[in-house]
Amino acid sequence: MNRAWRLVLASIVAVVLVAISVVASVQLLKHPVDIKPPEQIVLLVVPVGVTGDKASFPDKSVLSALIEDLRQSLDLKYVIGKPFTLPVALLNRETGQLRVDLALSAVVQRYRRSGYFRVLGVTAKDITARNYNFLFGLADAKDIGCVMSVHRLSWGADEALTRERIAKIALHEIGHTLGRGHTPDTKSVMVYSDSLAGLDESGSCFTPFDVSVIATKFPELAGKIKAGDPAVADG
Ligand SMILES: [Zn+2]
Repeated sequence: MNRAWRLVLASIVAVVLVAISVVASVQLLKHPVDIKPPEQIVLLVVPVGVTGDKASFPDKSVLSALIEDLRQSLDLKYVIGKPFTLPVALLNRETGQLRVDLALSAVVQRYRRSGYFRVLGVTAKDITARNYNFLFGLADAKDIGCVMSVHRLSWGADEALTRERIAKIALHEIGHTLGRGHTPDTKSVMVYSDSLAGLDESGSCFTPFDVSVIATKFPELAGKIKAGDPAVADG
């Protein structure tokens, strides 16, 4: 091939490459990469249970009611995820309770890069962790996930009280994932409780102080996170 032909060939290759890149960028404009709009803050609620144990998963109606209640304090978009089945190896061999510390690790690992703002795992299995007889819930204060159990929350309670307890635990654990620790303020949902009696006495909403602490850490929640009416929480 002489020099002139090589030049012609090189020009043809260059023209083709330019054409390809123009077409590609036009395509990109027509079909932009599917990025979730940043204003969409989505909280994922995942039913969590154990292999071969249908009753270990919460009813969907429970999750729908929970989301309705959470919306009062956190005005976000909520999605109910596909059931997350954990291996039987995550059960405490002696008590049969779910090791919630291990379940939480599994949930966090699974959803950390999912793009969801926060993930709440809900199980109907009784949960525990090392050095505890049981827990209502557990949160990873440095990550996006928390897991709670509805197992004990219907004990000695009618439907309304059960629902209230479920919403309290959920909001409490989500509060931890938003960097809010425990408070001695009994009007707040962020009071520590290790009994149903204690839970029933605690507040069911964030206080204005809880909201200010969380909003400082998560400015994107400004206007979306609400404090309950302290007068109502008091009564
Ligand atoms: Zn707590």
